[in-house]
Amino acid sequence: MIYADNAATTPVSPAARAAMIDAMDKLWGNPSSLYTFGQLAEEALSDARARVAGCLGAEAGEIIFTSGGSEADNQALRSAAAFGAKKGKKHIISTAFEHHAILHTLDALKAEGFEVTLLPVHSDGLVRPEDLVAALRPDTALVSVMFANNEIGTIQPIARLGEICRQAGVLFHTDAVQAAGHIAIDVKAMNIDMLSLSGHKFHGPKGVGALYVRRGVPVQPLIYGGAQERRRRAGTENLPAIAGMAAALEEACAHLEENAAKVSALRDRLIAGLSAIPHAALNGAAEPRLPGNVNFCFEGIEGESLLLMLDEAGIAASSGSACTSGSLDPSHVLLAIGRPHEVAHGSLRLSLSEANTDADVEHILKEVPRVVDYLRACSPVWDELEKGERSYVIL
Ligand SMILES: *Cc1c(COP(=O)(O)O)cnc(C)c1O
Repeated sequence: MIYADNAATTPVSPAARAAMIDAMDKLWGNPSSLYTFGQLAEEALSDARARVAGCLGAEAGEIIFTSGGSEADNQALRSAAAFGAKKGKKHIISTAFEHHAILHTLDALKAEGFEVTLLPVHSDGLVRPEDLVAALRPDTALVSVMFANNEIGTIQPIARLGEICRQAGVLFHTDAVQAAGHIAIDVKAMNIDMLSLSGHKFHGPKGVGALYVRRGVPVQPLIYGGAQERRRRAGTENLPAIAGMAAALEEACAHLEENAAKVSALRDRLIAGLSAIPHAALNGAAEPRLPGNVNFCFEGIEGESLLLMLDEAGIAASSGSACTSGSLDPSHVLLAIGRPHEVAHGSLRLSLSEANTDADVEHILKEVPRVVDYLRACSPVWDELEKGERSYVIL
């Protein structure tokens, strides 16, 4: 079986697994306890915090451990909204193609009286800095733009957006769940005030993530209780998961360039090969794009059937995001970049990692065109397209 769904989740790396087992075996004390068992755990926790911070160009005290990317996103938005509201600022800017952890939190904030502007995403899968400049208002409390999109992999001009926000005196958050461990991030150079990441997207465990909050930026907890995480997130720390995530992130960051070079070469072969299928189109510009992301629309077929047949052919891939597969709504990301409904349904996302090989690419390039042909042969829509009773959207 070829695993090509690394944007949904990744297997735990041996280094992360070893760190987790070590933490469970030897560091089971409560980090808040004063005796030695607790202090050993506390030291490991501080060490993990410093290592995660180091991978982002942050300071250890700026890292809050959370239960994952979703919680980090919720906390960033809720916290900034609460502080904005105290100053009478109730306007938030984000984008139309964010992860649902952002979009659904914004819906909740709207119901509580906040006003939300979603920036458009152009057909190349990018947000334009000038659109942000035009959307900023005196009452804007926060701007949140994802670092790289989870479906189409396009990398946003984060440094430029951060600069615009800093100049305007507006808080800037980025959901970097797909970027962390895959492309270089420097929170200081990029003027990022808050950043979310998640362990399981870079070979760490699930159920753990982090929120970076720049020193001096006020932050409010989502979860109240004990004094853990400097009163910014209550609850006894999940040290095995945190240690596993830190080990995975450190390993990913140490091999960032070589992994990116290897994975993007596989990606480019897939993009070139799949582009040869008639009436197929890459979603979003080829560059700047995450090293492992390939996302195509194939006219005249359904993504769901494509996935099932690829599964039988030994390929694990995705259509839309893991959260949208299973529902019949086409991906909001593909709609945001202007794909019409009927085409957005026929999408395929292949997300690669450094564990994929040339042989995997060859197998995918043999199977995808075969399955697309087969599905088109039984598709009434394709039949109408071929007879000229309907016109092609993808030429
Ligand atoms: C996976 C993902 C999340 C959610 O992270 P979890 O740790 O699964 O909660 C948020 N944003 C993006 C862009 C993601 O890809």
